[in-house]
Amino acid sequence: MKNFKLENLIRDNVLKLKPYSSARHEFTGVAEVFLDANENPFENGHNRYPDAYQRTLKKKISQIKGLPIENIFLGNGSDEVIDLIFRAFCDPNSDNILICPPTYGMYEVSANINAIAIKKVLLLENFQLDLNAIFQEIDSRTKLIFICSPNNPTGNSMQPTDVEYILKNFDGLVVVDEAYIDFSTQTSFSHFLDKYPNLVVLQTFSKAWGLAGIRLGMGLASVEIVTILNKIKPPYNVNTLTQQTALKALENTLEQKQQIKSILTEREKLNRAFEALPFVQKIYPSDANFLLLKTDNPNQIYNDLKAQKIIIRNRSNVELCEGCLRITIGTTVENDRLINALQNL
Ligand SMILES: *Cc1c(COP(=O)(O)O)cnc(C)c1O
Repeated sequence: MKNFKLENLIRDNVLKLKPYSSARHEFTGVAEVFLDANENPFENGHNRYPDAYQRTLKKKISQIKGLPIENIFLGNGSDEVIDLIFRAFCDPNSDNILICPPTYGMYEVSANINAIAIKKVLLLENFQLDLNAIFQEIDSRTKLIFICSPNNPTGNSMQPTDVEYILKNFDGLVVVDEAYIDFSTQTSFSHFLDKYPNLVVLQTFSKAWGLAGIRLGMGLASVEIVTILNKIKPPYNVNTLTQQTALKALENTLEQKQQIKSILTEREKLNRAFEALPFVQKIYPSDANFLLLKTDNPNQIYNDLKAQKIIIRNRSNVELCEGCLRITIGTTVENDRLINALQNL
């Protein structure tokens, strides 16, 4: 970020864009009669458009995360935040991004949808970042580097000093995807937003919060970046039901903490059970709610489990994950059924 200037990264059309403005956006006082948005006037709890800036929800997230509201952007899943970052900062058919496979598939899909070229630098054997190769690969058109930590599908966290090295030495944006941070003992990079203006941290309600179905993701970044994302987002991208459901979950953090604790205990239990299986060659250390195993005959294991109606993720064709299966930690009952099935293969 030595020569980091956000203005240089923003697409021209976004810089010049006059965003959509509803009557509700323009009026900030306290009104009593709303005849501005062509809504149905009969109250049923959902007849009004949602708060476009999710103020009540963000206030609660801000308290829980210890971050100013101005640094929080909310999207229809992190996947929408990823797409909006592309649309704000990457010029189609001209800019490129860098990813470090094996990693989450949506970075590549989103880049392809937006016609952005992809540079790939494989992780090292130990699934850490290959800093030398990354800095050899980037060029003046590289706008974003995606770092997933803890990483999907490998499960490990990236060394924080490596992530900081990239933040310090890359002049584009560094997107640190922390979808699994609540299962990890690592500190979130969201506490470094003041130090690194080129940092965007992604978090989600889909994993530890148990709310994959409501589609809610967070982009934590500088006020300047959040302002740009707000400018280009669909006005009502986070619906009322989602905002209400998330708020309710955030008011009961005890239940979330208990669930995380149970998942971590079960992760240990599965780890021990897998160690005893003759066809398991290696269990990779996990900071997430899944385990990656290297096995003999992964396809056969995958198919045998499928025949017993147990679905896991076959990653054996993924580079650096040859022979690997990814298994999400379930409930005690589900995990016991899995262990039993594996022992009887
Ligand atoms: C599951 C996952 C997400 C979640 O995406 P949502 O759109 O918020 O559901 C994001 N990043 C990674 C690496 C994931 O594994």
